[in-house]
Amino acid sequence: MPTMETIVSLCKRRGFIFQSSEIYGGLGSCWDYGPLGVELKRNVKEAWWRSAVHRRDDMVGLDASILMHPRVWEASGHCEGFTDPLVDCKQCQHRFRADHLKKDKCPDCGGELTESRQFNLMFKTFMGPVEDQAAVVWMRPETAQGIFVNFLNVSTAMRKKLPFGIAQIGKAFRNEITPGNFTFRTREFEQMEIEYFVEPSTAEEHYHRWVSTRREWYVQHGIREENLRLRDHEADELAHYAKACCDVEYKFPFGWSELEGIANRADFDLNRHSEFSGTKLTYFDTKTNEHIVPYVIEPSAGADRGCLAFLVDAYHEEEVAGRQRLVMRFHKDLAPIKVAVLPLLKNRPELVELAHNLNEDLRRFCTTMYDDTASIGKLYRRQDEIGTLFCVTVDVDSLTDNAVTLRERDTMAQERIGVDRLAEVIRGRLGVD
Ligand SMILES: [Zn+2]
Repeated sequence: MPTMETIVSLCKRRGFIFQSSEIYGGLGSCWDYGPLGVELKRNVKEAWWRSAVHRRDDMVGLDASILMHPRVWEASGHCEGFTDPLVDCKQCQHRFRADHLKKDKCPDCGGELTESRQFNLMFKTFMGPVEDQAAVVWMRPETAQGIFVNFLNVSTAMRKKLPFGIAQIGKAFRNEITPGNFTFRTREFEQMEIEYFVEPSTAEEHYHRWVSTRREWYVQHGIREENLRLRDHEADELAHYAKACCDVEYKFPFGWSELEGIANRADFDLNRHSEFSGTKLTYFDTKTNEHIVPYVIEPSAGADRGCLAFLVDAYHEEEVAGRQRLVMRFHKDLAPIKVAVLPLLKNRPELVELAHNLNEDLRRFCTTMYDDTASIGKLYRRQDEIGTLFCVTVDVDSLTDNAVTLRERDTMAQERIGVDRLAEVIRGRLGVD
């Protein structure tokens, strides 16, 4: 397994992830996805959306606003309970989460610490031109509440019958006291959340089904089984209203950590919003002619954590013919670039034209990269390092035999393929129509 330093440095060197505002010295725990990182992240989110929404009859999507009515966060419990215990070092002024410290001394300088106090993790801002208490709004600390407050809108507009779910991908913000481990814990992050509403008596069954569905999703997209595990929360870790919670954990270089949590939240959220808003968030069961409050199962995944796990898991170093080869073995649906088109002689106009035409052809259905700036060995190594699935080389023979060399990333197998068949062959291997 690579170290975090290796991953961070590859991410910067090859354009996956950069430090935010780097030329100004960087902004703590904020990261920018570069040209390849943004493709990877879009692919992760699309793969999630396909499996969570498009390929199911019982799921619909939503894109709620980041700023919400301030009462939402009173109802959800975030105003009161979304806090971490904070301590300051009296000597160096560094701040720590009290529950993360092993001793009652500053880990940086050994200085004395203040008493711990509760620190709310929500980012506060002001709506409109006046900065007063009446204008306070919060940057959402989770996307879930946007789903709960739209429960009636969605179920009415879409005529959904239980069980059904609402999926959402979006940014959330938490003013973490101690962010860290690259993009694992950041103050601005992207969530992929589902709220799945069920008849209360079936909640446990649906909960277990979602735990295995979500674990399986990571395996289907290339995470090795041995690097995944499920961890049930102990009774004292559970929120008071939650019936059960399970984390899907990944074996990161810094240890087993949460990729996603799946919780059975019972009827807590809908009841709280009914109470605080005065609007009854219930479901009319036509079988029993009764209004019921559904239970909810919440699979909540992090897009950034997912990307980080896919990056770590894809990383492979191997020796090929006495040389080190670094190859990112991304799943085909997640690889940022699917095909690289590499003309071997850039001083032959007919050859360059053929390569450009092939590139045009291929990028109608997948991402491609055209590169003629180095020798073929170097070009292959560059593409391996970013996980490109196929390299197509156009050489001088191509002009007479009307064929190109197709090289596969993982096996490095090369085959000669007719230009007229190339797009069809690649489509087939990518599994796109
Ligand atoms: Zn200190």
